[in-house]
Amino acid sequence: MQQGTLFIISAPSGAGKSSLIHAYLQQQNSTPAKVSISHTTRAPRPSEKQGEHYYFVDNNQFESLINNDSFVEYAHVFDHYYGTSKTEIDQSLQNGMNVFLDIDWQGAEQVKQKIPHAKTIFILPPSLAELEKRLIKRGQDSAQVIAKRMQKARAEIAHYTHYDYLIINDDFDTSLQSLTAIIMVASLENEKQTEKYRDLLNELLND
Ligand code: 5GP
Repeated sequence: MQQGTLFIISAPSGAGKSSLIHAYLQQQNSTPAKVSISHTTRAPRPSEKQGEHYYFVDNNQFESLINNDSFVEYAHVFDHYYGTSKTEIDQSLQNGMNVFLDIDWQGAEQVKQKIPHAKTIFILPPSLAELEKRLIKRGQDSAQVIAKRMQKARAEIAHYTHYDYLIINDDFDTSLQSLTAIIMVASLENEKQTEKYRDLLNELLND
């Protein structure tokens, strides 16, 4: 069975990462894909549901998951723990499903070291002013949290150099096309195609 591809997507909060992933999943009908659900110690926002947006856990639970080596990566982001459990991704990839990780640059570096075939995508806002505007419009965070997220945005953006692909999310539809193209190109890589078309390739090479 052809293995799925792991796509790591990072961006400063408000760059439109979650909306793009969501829109991709809604439109695509060929390659099955899922978004990995992370564990976090941050409190749920009013619209968020346990096990749907995150697995919300306390510090003790998170630390015992670390001690049990349950995470493929974890990091401290905005004063809270965030982590991707191995079980969230292993089974799906083995079943041929593409998996999206919506994680920060620290997590991206850890995963890329362990899974070098993973494709990394960084989503940038068209400007800092637009980023702030989107965070305010989203209405999810207090003014204080927004100020903190804006402060962190530059630091996060500085890590764009390590990523395979960059998307400047100015026009949403264009960004969605770019994301779709990246996923398409990844599926056409020699290694993937060889796995998928092994029988055909054998047939083509035999007299
Ligand atoms: P938020 O609190 O807005 O949901 O997420 C804050 C940041 O944490 C985002 O940059 C998001 O990508 C990152 N994040 C979410 N889940 C994980 C995870 O499992 N691991 C890491 N390293 N970062 C994560």
